[in-house]
Amino acid sequence: MFDLLIRGATLPDGRRNQDVAVRDGRIVDIALGIEGQAAEIIEAEGHLLSPPFVDPHFHMDATLSLGQPRMNLSGTLLEGIALWGELRPSLTREAVVERALRYCDLAVSKGLLAVRTHVDVSDPRLVTVEGLLEVRERVAPYLDLQLVAFPQDGYYRSPQVAAALSRALDMGVDVVGGIPHFERTMEDGRASIEALCRIAAERGLRVDMHCDETDDPLSRHVETLAAQTVRFGLQGRVAGSHLTSMHSMDNYYVSKLLPLVAEQDCVLDPWYAMGSGDMLDVAHMAVHATQMGSVADKKALFDAITVVPARLLGLTDYGLEPGCHADMVLLQARDTTEAIRLRPNRLKVIRRGKVIAETPPERSRLSLDGRPGAVDPSDYAPKAMS
Ligand SMILES: [Zn+2]
Repeated sequence: MFDLLIRGATLPDGRRNQDVAVRDGRIVDIALGIEGQAAEIIEAEGHLLSPPFVDPHFHMDATLSLGQPRMNLSGTLLEGIALWGELRPSLTREAVVERALRYCDLAVSKGLLAVRTHVDVSDPRLVTVEGLLEVRERVAPYLDLQLVAFPQDGYYRSPQVAAALSRALDMGVDVVGGIPHFERTMEDGRASIEALCRIAAERGLRVDMHCDETDDPLSRHVETLAAQTVRFGLQGRVAGSHLTSMHSMDNYYVSKLLPLVAEQDCVLDPWYAMGSGDMLDVAHMAVHATQMGSVADKKALFDAITVVPARLLGLTDYGLEPGCHADMVLLQARDTTEAIRLRPNRLKVIRRGKVIAETPPERSRLSLDGRPGAVDPSDYAPKAMS
C-alpha cells in the first residue's frame, strides 16, 4: 500500500510512462507499471515530473518592497543599493516576515521549494535576521530556506558590521556572505575574503559571496576567493555569485582563472530571478541572453534550476530516485525543453508526498467556423518518429 502513486509521467532524463510510488514522504519506486494500491493516485498523462526548482540566490529581506520609500528611477544596481539604505532604518521584523511569507506562497505555487537568501546584517538591530529566522521556521514544512549573513554595505566599511555578522551566525544564520568589490579598496576586499573564509572554516559553515558584481575587468576577487577556499579547505562549500566583471576580462586572464575556480568546485550563477518566483523564467531568459540554444545547453539550463543549485545548497535526499524525499513538480509540458519554452502551469506541487499546490491545466476552447476544438500548449512538443 502506497501513500501516493503517480502514473504515466515523463522524467527529466527522457524516460516515459514512468510510475512513481511514495510511502512515508519518500519515493520508494520508479518503474514502468508499478502494481499496488495507493491512498491517492495522480494520472500524469505523459506530463513532465521534475524534482522541485531551487533558487540559489535571493534577497528575501527586500522582496516585495519595490516602491518603498520610492521607485528606482535609473534602474541601476547602485541606485537600488542606495534605496535599500534609505528603507533599512524603518524596517520592522513584522514587515520583513509579512513580505517574505507572501513571496514564499508565490514560490511554492511555482514549484520552487528551496531558496538560499542573503540577509543584510548592516543594520545592527538585525530585524532582517530575526524576521527571516522566523520565516525559515514557519515555512520549513514546505520550503527549505537557507540564510546567508550578507554585509550589504561592506564588511569593513562600518565598524559595527563584523560584530553584527558574528551575532547573526550565533543566532542561526546558515552561510557566511561577503561583498569584496564593494569594500573601500582592493586590499580591503582581499582582506574581507580572508576574514570571512576563516570565520566559515572555524564555524564549519558554507560561504556565498557577491563577487565582482561590476563591469571592471580588474575586479578579480573571485581569484582570491578561490585561493582562500583551497587554503581553508572549504572546497565544495563556496559559491561566488554574479561575477559580472568576467565579461570584461581579457581572455588570457580568464583562461588562467577557470582552472583555479575548478579547483574550488563552485557553481557560478550569473542569473537573476527578476522577482516572478518562477525559475523557468530564469532559464527561459538564459536561453536568449547567453545564447544557450543547443539541445545540450537546454538540458544544462534545466539542471541549473534543479539539481545543480540543490548540490550548491547541500540539500540531502533531493532528486527523483528511490530513497529521495517525495518532493516533485508535475508540469504541463512533455519534456524539459518544453518546460523552458512554455513556462507551463504547475499542475501539482508535491512536498514529502503531499500535494501542497495545484494549478489546473491551461486549455483554450475554440469555436472556428462552427468547428469546436481545444488547444493544450503542451500538445505541440515535437514527437519522435516511430
Ligand atoms: Zn545578490
